[in-house]
Amino acid sequence: MTTIQRIWRLRNRLIRLSGTKCQDCGLVTYPPKAACPKCGSRNLIEIELPRKGEVLTYTILNVPIKGFEQYAPLIIAIIKLGDAKVLAQLTDVKPEEVRVGMKVQATIRRTAPTLDGVVPYVVKFKPIKGGKISSEEERAELATA
Ligand SMILES: [Zn+2]
Repeated sequence: MTTIQRIWRLRNRLIRLSGTKCQDCGLVTYPPKAACPKCGSRNLIEIELPRKGEVLTYTILNVPIKGFEQYAPLIIAIIKLGDAKVLAQLTDVKPEEVRVGMKVQATIRRTAPTLDGVVPYVVKFKPIKGGKISSEEERAELATA
């Protein structure tokens, strides 16, 4: 399997943004949980979260942990995705441009290789420019990720 094929398979899994919804109290969590963190119920169903949301709050880390200095400043946000609140990194935006209420969309990015040489892909969020997601843009992104 080529790298591109591998990325596309991963993309389908990652970009689906699966969460879980508690059937007893209604809490939606991401990533999926085995038990509800609020009421402890195991009566959860898997749901698909929207890929677009908005920034509820954020923080900017100018002094990242050792080994991640090249990624400074890191912008970490809590993003409202439907009924879920997701903690994730923002990308493609300058710290001074981030706003509460800013519309963002999910994107897949490569992160630093782990010690065993695996290059993990993670979901980050980037500002929605013009409010439309272009599939051409996504393809270009994956090719350069
Ligand atoms: Zn619950």
